[in-house]
Amino acid sequence: MLKDLLLQFIVSLLPVFAFQIWNNKELNWKRMPVFLGVFCGASMLLCMLTEPNFLGCQLDFHLIPYMIGSLYGGWPALALLTLICVIVQYPTLDNFQELASFILFTAGFVMLMSISYRPFHQLSALRKERNGLLLMSVLMLYLVITLTGSVMEWTFDLVLEVVLTVSATLLATWLSIFIIESVKEKQLLHEEVTRLSVNYRNEVEKLQQFIDVTSFAVIVVDCEGRITHYNEMALKLLHIRIELTESGNLLGTYYSKAFQPGQGDLFVNMISQALNGTRATLVPFVSGDKMLLKTTFSLRSLLNNEAEGAALMVQDVTELSQLRNEVGRMERLSLVGQMAASITHEIRNPLAVIRGFVQLIQERSPASQREYFQIVMEELDRANMIISDFLSLAQNRALTMELSSLNDILNELLPLLNADANLRGQTIDTSLCEDMPLIMLNDREIKQMFLNIARNGMEAMDDHGVLQISTHYWNDRIELRIADNGEGIAQDKMVHLFEPFFTTKTRGTGLGLPLCLSIVERHNGKIDVNSIEGEGTTFIVTFYLQQEEKAV
Ligand code: ADP
Ligand code: MG
Repeated sequence: MLKDLLLQFIVSLLPVFAFQIWNNKELNWKRMPVFLGVFCGASMLLCMLTEPNFLGCQLDFHLIPYMIGSLYGGWPALALLTLICVIVQYPTLDNFQELASFILFTAGFVMLMSISYRPFHQLSALRKERNGLLLMSVLMLYLVITLTGSVMEWTFDLVLEVVLTVSATLLATWLSIFIIESVKEKQLLHEEVTRLSVNYRNEVEKLQQFIDVTSFAVIVVDCEGRITHYNEMALKLLHIRIELTESGNLLGTYYSKAFQPGQGDLFVNMISQALNGTRATLVPFVSGDKMLLKTTFSLRSLLNNEAEGAALMVQDVTELSQLRNEVGRMERLSLVGQMAASITHEIRNPLAVIRGFVQLIQERSPASQREYFQIVMEELDRANMIISDFLSLAQNRALTMELSSLNDILNELLPLLNADANLRGQTIDTSLCEDMPLIMLNDREIKQMFLNIARNGMEAMDDHGVLQISTHYWNDRIELRIADNGEGIAQDKMVHLFEPFFTTKTRGTGLGLPLCLSIVERHNGKIDVNSIEGEGTTFIVTFYLQQEEKAV
């Protein structure tokens, strides 16, 4: 009898063993009810066939796969299992009483399962085990009671057999639910770990992308000083040894061996300090023609705050510092503008009065003193000119522009310029581009700009100088080049050229070039200066053509 019991026990657990094997293959989790339903059907069939009409009633182990299959497989499994049960058991029923008892039991079972199915799935694993045991106990109780009605005499063996069967059934039920739930839990855990690791990998990749595209040069080292991360910018800015850059072997190299000796020493020191826990500071420094901002910080574990490495970040702020200088220049210009506005009224009017009276006195004075009056008048005119330049510089109102040819404007001024050059003994050489397009210009301002630059050129040359004036038309822009073969401009003076009041001349105002720049900028153009000391200077004024101007 024990052999039968053991066999039934094992057969009833068949679906859960199969389930474990199936689960290890990582098949689709959604197909689990179908799988359980089919295997429970097979197990049930085996249970019933190996011990038909156990104890003369349905008190065999087929109830375990029947119940497990129905609870986990839902309606389809319940229907399939019930069908198998009916097909196998119906031929074994001898009389009406057995048939009625079978129908009653089966109907009760189906009802119980259909009520329990949904609530069962909401429960925790522990409660599922408890509820499964409770359901099975109810069924067992019913069957034992039925059995009591049909047994003539209760022998010790029979009681033992019933007790063992009931206990083994309950044990198998608990074991089935326990194993299924453990497997499910393991599977859920596995899915969660997979999800977390995918998320983690994504985050790491995002971080790496961020490091790659950021304008900072970044190098990260671990606590032993080996490089674990770097980006393209680091290769450009940080004087990494060429052989490491070319071979792509930078990762894993010790930071102390990664930088070029000399230029990279600074970075080695900074990383060493960060690894020793020194706090980060932002330090600006100049490297070649670049202005860099560098910082380091140590990386610490979130768990125990222990040092885990260090990061070096360097930012190229050259453009930023140029922009700051530019803003400073603009501010100075606007200050000049404000000053000019008040000077107009305060000085220009009295100057006009003085000049009038000086002229009057000059007429009444002896001819011998005329020369002095002439000097006074010239100085007054010069002062007046400075004020006019001031005013032009301050002028911020919208310009009235019209389509004009740069060549025409220059041609108007050339006689004046030639006369000036003749007086100095210099020559002017002009070469104007032939098919110059029309462009939006303010005639008066362009003349002022041209005269200023040309006069500067003449003033820079001796009496054999040649001033070359040429215009050029490129696809998207036109250029005016004014080249002299004068003294040239020293490198240290170059940066100050367009600052108001910068002059190297005893009688200069230092307002000519700032004025030219503001005029050209108002035309959305730019001025470039090429100069070689002792050889000469070329001013290149560029105006960009708008789409419609190109069409003209
Ligand atoms: P100013 O002519 O009154 O000195 P500018 O603003 O016109 O003022 O010029 C500023 C300075 O730039 C000049 O004093 C001169 O030193 C330098 N400069 C300008 N143009 C030239 C040039 N063509 N060659 C050499 N130096 C120049
Ligand atoms: Mg000048």
